[in-house]
Amino acid sequence: MRHAGKLLIVGIIAGCALSEHAAAQQADLNSPDLVLVGGRILTMDSRSSVAEALAVRDGKILAVGSDAAVRPIAGPQTRVIDLAGKTVVPGLIDTHAHFGAAGLSDYVVNLGPAKSVAGALELLKAFVARKKPGEWIITGGWHPPSQLAEKRYLTRQEIDSVAPNNPVYLRTVGHFAMANSLALQKAGIDKTSPNPSGGSFEKDASGELTGVLVETAIPLVENLVPPFTEDEEIRQYKIAEGVLNSYGITSVVEGATSARDTRTLQKIALSNAATLRVGLMYRPEPPAELSAWEAIMSGSGATSGFGDDWLKFGGIKIFYDGGMTLRTAMMRDVYPDSHDNYRGIAQQTPERLKQLVSIANKSNWRVGVHVVGDLGVDQVLDAFEAADKEKSIRDRRFILIHASLIRPEQMDRARTLGVRVDFQNVFMWDKAATVERFLGKATADRALPTKTLIDRMGLDNLGAGTDFPVNPINPFLNIYIMVTRKDPNGNVYGASEAISREQALRLYTSAASRYMFDEGRKGTLEAGKLADLAVLSADIMSVPDDQIKDIKADMTMVGGKVVFQR
Ligand SMILES: [Zn+2]
Repeated sequence: MRHAGKLLIVGIIAGCALSEHAAAQQADLNSPDLVLVGGRILTMDSRSSVAEALAVRDGKILAVGSDAAVRPIAGPQTRVIDLAGKTVVPGLIDTHAHFGAAGLSDYVVNLGPAKSVAGALELLKAFVARKKPGEWIITGGWHPPSQLAEKRYLTRQEIDSVAPNNPVYLRTVGHFAMANSLALQKAGIDKTSPNPSGGSFEKDASGELTGVLVETAIPLVENLVPPFTEDEEIRQYKIAEGVLNSYGITSVVEGATSARDTRTLQKIALSNAATLRVGLMYRPEPPAELSAWEAIMSGSGATSGFGDDWLKFGGIKIFYDGGMTLRTAMMRDVYPDSHDNYRGIAQQTPERLKQLVSIANKSNWRVGVHVVGDLGVDQVLDAFEAADKEKSIRDRRFILIHASLIRPEQMDRARTLGVRVDFQNVFMWDKAATVERFLGKATADRALPTKTLIDRMGLDNLGAGTDFPVNPINPFLNIYIMVTRKDPNGNVYGASEAISREQALRLYTSAASRYMFDEGRKGTLEAGKLADLAVLSADIMSVPDDQIKDIKADMTMVGGKVVFQR
């Protein structure tokens, strides 16, 4: 309908006797807004063509080809950019990230890099200096006993020394948190307060509060921290979009989206302020009652694919097992040092998982399941197979998210069902040694079996992402690991699973676009597709292996607009 309308308007204009001036305007309407010339443009089309020039109009690619063919179509109003030989790739697509975390640096103090009590206090002091007195100071997940040289938590008095006028609440990744004197005072906690049942307020030898909160004592302070306002969350997501753009990323799949995040991202998209295309994996907490799950699945009438080029539902996210470094991945084999046949922890029974998937499928939702261990993959594939018998899932690209320890025959089962696997090699950057410690060297070597996945499932049924902030967002670091299988110390894990640079790049472009059924819209640089691309600081196909991780985006374009420039 919309196309017919446009044609009609064009027809009417063409039908009028045009003045020369109007005719010139008409010609300009047909010339590109932008032409890039003199580049090494990796189109990632099916023939892996390399072009020199690319023209953009109305946010889409108008033409790709040689300088000689494309340059002449520039009109008087066309902006021409000389790429000076630089390499251009399609805009990168991270198929699994919780990217809002990239926008929190003004809001949450990052104590992750602290190596000592003094170092943590220094970071805290610098952050407090940017805040008004009385504002709450909070942190993201960190773990003082394992990261600080002193192997202990900060005391209330230490925190007071750098933040006397702000309530401070420092949560950790574990079952402990820290509060300073002002925060405890606001919570009405003093040394005479009785411990809550199931928790405690830690005290020193002289009976004074240390500020360390244990288990159920935590929410007594945490609940006082005011939630971010809507405006703050909009600003956080806008910052986060810019951070991803600075790595050449133009699209992302948000890995577990709350209704609140969906609303925030929709506000940004509706105000034409988005600089990143976002696929949403909507993640409602599965309620105990299946009828309530059914109501959520059919409740709004929207399902996978609802949305537009900026914001679109990808599917429903369900969690199944845990993770390799948490010792909670569901494993076929008993854990190496287990005394009790321990095989990991699932958040659902296999039976309940089947029901959740079945109900989502019947409501037309595509399902992506977080699963890491091989036993977990067995059980998720069982659930997908059962759902497929009720209503075919074969052309709907259900997703195994992570599947880090998937086995070859499971890949065959997945392929038969039309299931995708979206994995994150960058997980092995700083965590391979921990995986080795918990699960053994053989398991660390067979984790992220990328070459076998490509051989068994076909590149197009796969995608690469980061699971940021669990792992770094940097796509070039991820590609480096896919190509070398190295950790920061140069240790190689599973050398036979290394893949080529072109394959790795496709997992971020042409193959990744298929996650959101967008292969006709993006993922390659071809006429008619969205003008999403990144200009790189070095040629990713020819730099020495060790330099792949140091590549940067020099310029990033989304929908023909420059959204980042170094
Ligand atoms: Zn995740």
